Amino acid sequence: MRGIVSDLEVQRAYTPVSPVDAEGYFEVLIKIYEDGFMSRFVKTWKEGNTVCWRGPFGNCPYKPNQYEQLLLFASGTGIAPMVSLIQYIVANEEDETFITLVGCFRTFQDIYMKPRLQELAAYWNVKTLFVLSQEQDLTHLLWSYREKTYLGRINCDMVKNFVNSCRRKPFIMVCGSITFSKDVLNYLNQLGLPEDDYFVF
Ligand SMILES: Cc1cc2nc3c(=O)[nH]c(=O)nc-3n(C[C@H](O)[C@H](O)[C@H](O)COP(=O)(O)OP(=O)(O)OC[C@H]3O[C@@H](n4cnc5c(N)ncnc54)[C@H](O)[C@@H]3O)c2cc1C
Repeated sequence: MRGIVSDLEVQRAYTPVSPVDAEGYFEVLIKIYEDGFMSRFVKTWKEGNTVCWRGPFGNCPYKPNQYEQLLLFASGTGIAPMVSLIQYIVANEEDETFITLVGCFRTFQDIYMKPRLQELAAYWNVKTLFVLSQEQDLTHLLWSYREKTYLGRINCDMVKNFVNSCRRKPFIMVCGSITFSKDVLNYLNQLGLPEDDYFVF
C-alpha cells in the first residue's frame, strides 16, 4: 500500500486475507501503531477515500497435500498469512491436510478475525487453539473458547504438547513478531526438531 504522511510517501506490505473466491475486492488486516507512519495515514481514512495498492507479490510456496499435517504458530497480525493459507486449503476439496493453528494474543479481546477463525474451525480438518498471555482466567471467555485456550506466554511445554497432539507428523510454520518467532524457534530446537520440519516467515 502507498500512503502519504506529512508530504512523505510511504510504502508498506500487507497480506491479503480475502477468501480464495473473492472477486472484485480484497481484504487486509492492518494493525495501527500509534507512532507508525503508514498507521498515521490509515487513521486519516474516511469512507469513500481511494487508496493505492499494487500486487499481490510472491507466490504461495505451499502445494496441496504436500504435508499430512500443518502446525501453525502465529502471534498478532502474523495470523494473516495463516488465515490465507488455511482458506486456500479448505477451498480445495482434494486437499486433506490436517491443520492446527495456534494463535497467540495478549487477551481474548485482542484475538483478530474471530468470526473468520470460527468459520475455519468448523472444517473437519481444521483445529484452532489460542494462547493468551495476559488473561487471568478462562471463566469470562465464551464457552466455545474455554476448551481451546491456554493461559500464559507460549513456552516449551506448550509447544511440545501441541506437536505431540497432532494427528500426524506436522510441518510447522511460525509467523509473528521477531521475539515471538525467536522464542518458538528456540523451543523447536530444544525439542530436537530438524530444520526441515519448520519454516519461519
Ligand atoms: C510481507 C509482509 C507482510 C505484512 N503483512 C502485514 C499484515 O497483514 N498486517 C499488518 O498489520 N502488518 C503487516 N506487515 C507489516 C507492515 O508492512 C508494516 O510494517 C506495519 O503496518 C507498520 O507500518 P507503519 O508505517 O505504521 O509503522 P512504522 O513507522 O514502520 O513503525 C512500526 C512500529 O515500529 C516502531 N519503529 C519504527 N521504527 C523504529 C525503529 N527504528 N526502532 C524501533 N522501533 C521502531 C514504531 O514505533 C512502530 O511502533 C507486513 C510486513 C511484511 C514485510
